[in-house]
Formats: sequence, structure tokens, C-alpha cells
Amino acid sequence: MTKKIAVLPGDGIGPEIVAEAVKVLDYLNADMSLDLSLEYGLIGGAAYDAHGTPFPEQTLVLAKQADAVLLGAVGGYKWESLDIAVRPEKGLLGLRSELQLFANLRPAILYPQLISASTLKAEVVSGLDILIVRELTGGIYFGQPRGVRLLDNGEKQGYNTLVYSESEIRRIAHSAFQVAQKRNRRLCSVDKANVLECTELWRQVVTEIGRQYPDVELSHMYVDNAAMQLVRAPKQFDVLVTTNMFGDILSDISAMLTGSIGMLPSASLDANNKGMYEPIHGSAPDIAGKGVANPLATILSAAMMLRYTFNRSDAAGRIEDAVNKALNSNIRTADIYSEGMQKVGSAAMGDAVISALKEGA
Ligand code: NAD
Repeated sequence: MTKKIAVLPGDGIGPEIVAEAVKVLDYLNADMSLDLSLEYGLIGGAAYDAHGTPFPEQTLVLAKQADAVLLGAVGGYKWESLDIAVRPEKGLLGLRSELQLFANLRPAILYPQLISASTLKAEVVSGLDILIVRELTGGIYFGQPRGVRLLDNGEKQGYNTLVYSESEIRRIAHSAFQVAQKRNRRLCSVDKANVLECTELWRQVVTEIGRQYPDVELSHMYVDNAAMQLVRAPKQFDVLVTTNMFGDILSDISAMLTGSIGMLPSASLDANNKGMYEPIHGSAPDIAGKGVANPLATILSAAMMLRYTFNRSDAAGRIEDAVNKALNSNIRTADIYSEGMQKVGSAAMGDAVISALKEGA
């Protein structure tokens, strides 16, 4: 059956890096008969310029009809002074909420060739390959009531509500167990069950769901300890699953273990593994249009799409191996450049991945 992909390049470096990921998808589509069909749409500032809104109706329709979305990035100086309701970022948030993408997957993989980019000691991070599953549409970022109120004594008080229903915990737990099944079958659920009743429930429900996945080893950890362990001994983890706010913080820690923003992909999935795939970085307006951005995070996002939405781990693995080989050839985009390497632009890096795919075929 044809697998439909909505391609939304967005703004800044978005079109440049997405073009390289599409090159890779096109090659594999022909080489492995993946039956992928790509259709383009506008989002963010580019959509605002064309239609006066960062999230046009036709983009929503395209994304809803697709099995997966490949996104570049949105935003840039040009649109910073717009009303917040029509800023590029609204397009992205609208898409996430319309598609009910509640499971955010962020792998942190350290390529041996880039070990010097990490701020941690080589022995702590070498071989690192972990994945954080963050709940994306609930928890304290969305809980009601919220606000700032005036107390009787004249003092202002800010308040937010941490809230998770059993069904919200169940669905993220299922996603995390299923992702763990595709990796090394170890899942660590992170909470603060010793202090927060809401995450005590989180722990109970995750444990309950775990009984349906006897092939995955489940453990639990308090978030303060998890933050410490991520920088002390990150390789002890395979998959971590946690709430929206804890995941926000822990996934940034884990991303930085690898030290290179241009290398890190992400996926946001719904209950049926339909997903949006995008690099974790933004639109990098400072280098946009120069053809120098690192396309590997986007290419690796395409690999995640093949693994998680299309169940083609074979094709995903080929891309990941090809990225590894491309890095072995000592070419580097500016963000990961170090002395003695050959500095190249986005297109040459994309070409190197294609060459490695051809060699490995
Ligand atoms: P950014 O991630 O765009 O850039 C931070 C720094 O990293 C910049 O120096 C940039 O040149 C560099 N960088 C980022 N990606 C790179 C790549 N692939 N190759 C080489 N260098 C790269 O973050 P920012 O500067 O804070 O934000 C710029 C714009 O992007 C803003 O409008 C922001 O709102 C938007 N943004 C969008 C997303 C998204 O679309 N998901 C995420 C974050 C920021």
C-alpha cells in the first residue's frame, strides 16, 4: 500500500535540509521498492507569506491524509514582530495538537567520529544510544487551573496544575513499551512518585501496562536521580519514558550529551504510530540560504519515520549505517567540523550519505 508522506520544509534552513532527506528517501524508495509517495505543503513563515496564516487549511488536510509528516523547521527574523497568533511557531503547535501527537521520541546517539563534540568524558559517552519518550500533550504544561492570582494580603501567587488521567498515562506507556521492543527491551519510567500523587499514579499505571510487555524489562527512577544518572552514567539506559515537563528537561540534557545539535532527530507519534518527524534544531536563520546547514538530523528523522511509522527497520538501519559511513569519510559540515577534516555544505553531505547507501547495497 502506498505510504503517504507530507513534506513541510518550512523556513530558514528547513528547505535546504529537507531537500537532502528527500534525496535519501527517493533513493531508498527506488532501491527497496518502499512505495513512498511525497507531497509538499507550506507551514510557518512560508505559509504566512503565501496565505496570511502559519497553518493553512490545505496543510492540515495534507497532514491528516498522510501517514507521516517530514518537517524542516519554522521561524525566522522576518516574522518575529508578527502577532503571536500568526507567528510561524503557531503552525507547528497547531499541527502537533491537530494530529494528537502525544509521544515525543528523542534519541541521543553519539557517533564515535564526533566524540570530541561532547562536553563529557569519552568513556562516559562513547557508544551512547538512548531514547527519551516524552509525553507531549498533557501534564503541567496544559493542566487547569493555571494563572497568576492576587491573594488577600495583596501578594501575587502563580499556580499551575500537574494532571494526568489514567488513559493519558496508558497511551504513552504503550508507546514507550512498543518503542523499547524495537530497541534493547529495557524501559525506565521516570517520575517523582515520592512527592507527587499524580506521578504516583503514573508509576502504578506504567507498572500495570508493563504486564502486557513481559519481554521488556521495566524499572522506575525518580527524576532528580535520572538527571544525575544521565550525566554520570548515561549508557545504563535504553529507553526512558516520562511526563511532559520532566521529559522537556531530561531530553535536553540527553541531547547535549552528544554535543551536536545538527545531528539529532525526533519523532512525535499518535496512538496509531502516525508521526511527525523533524530535527530537534530550529530554522537557523543565521546560516539560512548559504547551503552550509547540517542535513544529518533531518536525514536521521527520515530513518525514524521508516522505523516507527512504516515498520521498515531494515531501511532505517541502512540510513543510519550510511550516516556513520559518511562521517567516516572525514567530511564535516561547519557545526561538527574539527581540524584535519574536510568542510562541506548540506548537498555534499547528503551526497555522501547516498554514496554510502550505494556502497552498502
Ligand atoms: P536554532 O536551532 O535554529 O539555532 C541555534 C544555533 O544552532 C544557530 O547558531 C544555528 O546556526 C545552529 N544550527 C541549528 N541547526 C543547525 C544545522 N542543522 N546545521 C548547522 N548549524 C545549525 O535555534 P534558535 O536560533 O534559537 O532559533 C531560530 C529560529 O528557529 C527561531 O525562530 C525559533 O523560534 C525557531 N525554532 C524552531 C524550531 C522548530 O521548528 N521545531 C525549534 C527551535 C527553534
